[in-house]
Amino acid sequence: MKNNFSGLKEQLLSAIFPKGGSCAGCGRILFHEDILCDKCSNDLPEAEFFCERCGRLIREKGVCAGCVDGISKWDMAYCLYEYSFPADEMIINMKYHSKPYLSEYLGRKLGEMLKKKVKEKEFDVITFIPSAAERLSERGYNQAELLAEEVGKVMNIPVRTLIGTEDTPHQVGLAAAERYKNARDRFSFVESGDISKMKIILIDDVMTTGATMAAASEVLRENGCEYILAATVAQTLSEVVKEGDV
Ligand SMILES: [Zn+2]
Ligand SMILES: [Zn+2]
Repeated sequence: MKNNFSGLKEQLLSAIFPKGGSCAGCGRILFHEDILCDKCSNDLPEAEFFCERCGRLIREKGVCAGCVDGISKWDMAYCLYEYSFPADEMIINMKYHSKPYLSEYLGRKLGEMLKKKVKEKEFDVITFIPSAAERLSERGYNQAELLAEEVGKVMNIPVRTLIGTEDTPHQVGLAAAERYKNARDRFSFVESGDISKMKIILIDDVMTTGATMAAASEVLRENGCEYILAATVAQTLSEVVKEGDV
């Protein structure tokens, strides 16, 4: 009797006071859902085409432009979503609106997806793209590190800080080649241990031009790492180079 009563009370309370706050996609108030409203959950953009060499999301079947111009310096890339609505809003909320609980949710999903994709391969370490010190102090957390922690828990792989950063101007507005050079100049290897022959999962929230991921991959490669899996929550669609042009 007591149980029935408290169940009823809970139902009434949850009808009056939404438990989940607002939808991380469209911002609508949530009643029974956790992170996204039902509509946004159904609208999550799933990737369709992948570069056959590096795994980047592409507009149509073929090889991505990054593989041709040398930006795709990782061995394989995986992501959960294409970077469009509502995945983009979720990431913006995670990054800029003090909603780090979203990184817990998205990190777990990313880890579960990776576990299915790479079960035959053994990875030694998970690491992440560092955040500039200035932005870290503004925000209080590095979302890539939070994502990496969750992926590490799901996959049971240790997370280590391997790459450090110097403060340099924001990347926004720069072309891919400039972004790559900018990122390459500010990234450095900060691990004293040996990573030679290691297979590493490198985590970031979003891949757009791929320049940041490329620069970080290069740092790991220069220090002897054998295989790099670039994992992000989302990627923008990359241009395709048609077969005859490669
Ligand atoms: Zn929504
Ligand atoms: Zn590619």
